[in-house]
Amino acid sequence: MSEVLQSFAEGKWIAGSGKGREVLHAVTGEPVTNISSEGLDFKAMLEYGRSVGNPRLREMTFHERGRMLKELAQYLMGRKKEFYEVSKATGATKLDSWIDIEGGIGTLFVTSSKGRREVPDEKFLIDGDMEHLSKQGTFVGAHICVPLQGVAVHINAFNFPCWGMLEKLSSTFLAGMPAIVKPASATSYLSQKMVLAMLESGILPEGALQIICGGVGDLFEHLTCQDVVTFTGSAQTGRKLRSHPNIIENSVRFNMEADSLNCSILGEDVTPDMPEFKLFIKEVVQEMTVKAGQKCTAIRRIFVPRTRKDDVVAALKEKLSKVQIGNPDSKEVKMGPLASLEQVKDVREKVEELKKGAEIVIGDLDGFDVIDGEKGKGAFFPPVLFCCDHPKNGTSAHDVEAFGPVSTLMPYDSVDEAIELAQRGQGSLVGSLFTADDELATKVVLGLAPYHGRIAVINRECAAESTGHGSPLPHLVHGGPGRAGGGEEMGGVRGVHFYMQRVALQGSPTTLSRIMNTYLRGAKRKEDRIHPFRKYFDEVQVGDALITHRRTVTESDIVNFAGISGDYFYAHTDDIAAKESFFERRVAHGYFVLSAAAGLFVDAAPGPVLANYGLENLRFTQPVYIGDSIYVKFTCKQKTLKEKRDGEPPQGVIEWDVEVLNQNDEMVALYSILTLVRRSHEYDAD
Ligand code: NAP
Repeated sequence: MSEVLQSFAEGKWIAGSGKGREVLHAVTGEPVTNISSEGLDFKAMLEYGRSVGNPRLREMTFHERGRMLKELAQYLMGRKKEFYEVSKATGATKLDSWIDIEGGIGTLFVTSSKGRREVPDEKFLIDGDMEHLSKQGTFVGAHICVPLQGVAVHINAFNFPCWGMLEKLSSTFLAGMPAIVKPASATSYLSQKMVLAMLESGILPEGALQIICGGVGDLFEHLTCQDVVTFTGSAQTGRKLRSHPNIIENSVRFNMEADSLNCSILGEDVTPDMPEFKLFIKEVVQEMTVKAGQKCTAIRRIFVPRTRKDDVVAALKEKLSKVQIGNPDSKEVKMGPLASLEQVKDVREKVEELKKGAEIVIGDLDGFDVIDGEKGKGAFFPPVLFCCDHPKNGTSAHDVEAFGPVSTLMPYDSVDEAIELAQRGQGSLVGSLFTADDELATKVVLGLAPYHGRIAVINRECAAESTGHGSPLPHLVHGGPGRAGGGEEMGGVRGVHFYMQRVALQGSPTTLSRIMNTYLRGAKRKEDRIHPFRKYFDEVQVGDALITHRRTVTESDIVNFAGISGDYFYAHTDDIAAKESFFERRVAHGYFVLSAAAGLFVDAAPGPVLANYGLENLRFTQPVYIGDSIYVKFTCKQKTLKEKRDGEPPQGVIEWDVEVLNQNDEMVALYSILTLVRRSHEYDAD
């Protein structure tokens, strides 16, 4: 008799009472563990997360949380062998486990890096630019996002016990919220093993992470408007949970990732001798067999030009017949079992439904061989390919998801028909297109886009480096409309918004600058006798400014600059052409204005400013003519401390707002520059 798998609740490991539900090994059918969350105090778990984990995470800045994710990823990578070992019981092959375990850890790495690089080092996010709300500019608007003060409840599907958990934790922790993870029972022992490791690492603040192994009891009754739920699983369960009275009553945010009848389309242009044909066949086989087809992004519907149907069936038959099914511990085995015998039953039922409008052209439900395993005990299931010749009439392939190695091939007669068929999935996580024709790609992508969360266009140019049809990537959003649940996860920094409240701020630019710790144009500046370039990083304050002397632009400036740069554009050098242009006379080069501005604001002697490493958002707003006198308002906009690297002095990045004006105080150029500025020597030992 196996022991009950422990949950981690309110800072303690607790086994649910009773004997629980038995969870079996996917390959051998032997018991692995028992699941019960009976007796857990779900209300107290939520309160613990809100009162202990939440304030500790919110207290950290984005960069601190980003560094925490990186440290966690490195720690988990160091213990990956343990996860691979446990993963075997889920039926995963080495490749399946790699996607789940290292793919999941990779998500932590990417989210960490994006959080540290793309977001200022604050406890909140600035969303977009300042909005002008008044004529004189004394009343403006801006948006910021702050972490919610509750707990994120993550309900995950059984197919990716590590990746499914880590992709959600990445955004949650970066946003500054704690989480309660509820893995699917069938593979919960692997998620629990990883949670155990995360807690043992000591990297997460207290209360940041709890896990429920078993049911969620009355947890939904106690959710508030500051909590969120993310759900991955079947549409049926998702709909039920999303319509829980308390979710509706308190407008609790609910993100749903559900069933998806993803398609892959072979372009009309592709003939069997083209690389795109082979790539398409390889991808379909891969998507049917990786994770034994138990992937939310797997290809369920295959659309091919009618003239190519026989070629595609023959090529798939050849490849699929070589896929050896069995115990992934055996070297020859390419596809393991499903996660459980319940899944076998479920997929079989769905296959019966699919039979109504299509016929099986590859695969034998009973007559398949298993290497080093027993059919009735292990959850083995063969790859099955259906074919439906008239996909517009009566097939259930557009409605039924068999969550295993099962796909339906359907021929199309025109590109428009292929698009229409793809849309019949009523909203998918992903669609892919294999074509060498970019015109065709444009038409298909724009036709598919309103119904899809992600679209991959694969051809010979990108194939070698492509991550394929089925891989959601942490840089890109994952989710889809309609049947796929209408949710959105990951997408780099986009992923954190679900866990944060966006709030519109209105007030004077000076007040909003102070609140946002970012200089907004129009806010009061602070001038000082000391030049800003003579100050160390920590001495410069947001709003510190330099208003420079003036410089009159002469004809020789323009002639000299044309000579130095080689830019003899007519507006600078041809009197007649300039007169005929909308400038009406010769103007200075924009790049000369930038260079002259640098000459005005730079303090030349060696000092704390180490380098200028960029210029952003440049706009030339008015021409500068011969005889105009320009000057610069140079203001500290934002400061970001840099992580200390070996061999580098301690430093930070200062973003300066640069306004170049003429003698009438009209803006002629606007931009930001970024400088690397040294911290004072007292930080050298840090
Ligand atoms: P499921 O039965 O709906 O279960 C999903 C999760 O919900 C599991 O953790 C399950 O826990 C939990 N759950 C079930 N009933 C619940 C309830 N009344 N209250 C709270 N939690 C409850 O789905 P599944 O069979 O495990 O997963 C397969 C499905 O997930 C497929 O349809 C697939 O398309 C979908 N999926 C979607 C994505 C995506 O990203 N869109 C990813 C993976 C899978 P127990 O296991 O303890 O019942």
